[in-house]
Amino acid sequence: MRISEIGEFGLIRRIGKGFSRPSSRVAVGIGDDAAALLCSPSSALLATTDMLIEGVHFDLAYTDFFSLGWKSAAANLSDIAAMGGTPRFCLAALGLPDGVAVEDVAAFYRGLTVLLRRHSTDLVGGDTCRSGKGLIVSITVLGEAGKKQMVLRSGARAGDRIFVTGTLGDSAAGLEILRSVECGVRNREKIKNRGTRAGIKKLIERHLRPVPRVEEGRAVALSQCATAMIDVSDGLSLDLGHICEESGVGAEVHEDLIPLSPALQGAGGLQERPLRYALTGGEDYELLFTVPPSKAGKLAALGIAITEIGVITRKRHIRLVGASGSRKPLVPAGYDHFRRRK
Ligand code: ADP
Ligand code: MG
Repeated sequence: MRISEIGEFGLIRRIGKGFSRPSSRVAVGIGDDAAALLCSPSSALLATTDMLIEGVHFDLAYTDFFSLGWKSAAANLSDIAAMGGTPRFCLAALGLPDGVAVEDVAAFYRGLTVLLRRHSTDLVGGDTCRSGKGLIVSITVLGEAGKKQMVLRSGARAGDRIFVTGTLGDSAAGLEILRSVECGVRNREKIKNRGTRAGIKKLIERHLRPVPRVEEGRAVALSQCATAMIDVSDGLSLDLGHICEESGVGAEVHEDLIPLSPALQGAGGLQERPLRYALTGGEDYELLFTVPPSKAGKLAALGIAITEIGVITRKRHIRLVGASGSRKPLVPAGYDHFRRRK
């Protein structure tokens, strides 16, 4: 069977079901944003790892090494945030092809450690190899969370309200702009038509240097309001799909409540309308979480930027509610490494 027939997530499910026999020390194994391992009676060690591969996740034509280091830290810190934990330690493994200079590696580590330091996370090790083709980055972050404080993907219940931090879709729009400039659309008029210079810069920055919502994730977890949480790394529809699948529920999302930045709304000349980027674009690294109605009132006191976008339902499918009240199925779509593009 070809991997493309079951996709990235089908493959991970098979690995999890077939090869993982977790002991009682594993509170959360394969299938969530990070593993939670029981090393002490009251808290769990969180572990997450992410790989970035040249030509798949990034293109050095429009990604500088500092941003690459930053982003690879962000992706992992975001997974710790999505568990409601505190990041502590980082290991970085690099596969370096010919042509990468010492200065490039130094710039990568500057970007990586700037973000790690912001979250009091120590770089404590890694691995360095030669790569036959393309740059390979593999980052592991370890963190911790109180056992009671952790928020998994699996706790959402019918009636829970759905919230998201920040705004969605900027990163995917930023990527499209970076790619189109790189593909020779160096036509100044076309770029100008994309919106204000500041708006374009903002979209590109959100793609290259995303900000993981570590404080927000911890605040949500400490408030003990949330029943489920995930970071939006593959697109809202796909990541909400993960919560629904793990929790055995469905969801209704209101199209006009999905938070879009002024930069995305003001960007002209994009291939899709802004909502599409929010629903299926990846790498926003915002947090998506569910809260029972009785606890939703407590969220305002947390002082974090969040938007309510919908509700969890008993029926196990996800629907998009239009401004007129129309409902249509929202098929989870976003970034899957192996599924064939439609
Ligand atoms: P995220 O997008 O949050 O990084 P992934 O979709 O990459 O999450 O991973 C989902 C879950 O599957 C995680 O628990 C991760 O550790 C696990 N996982 C992914 N790939 C593998 C693999 N090759 N072997 C074992 N577990 C894996
Ligand atoms: Mg995640």
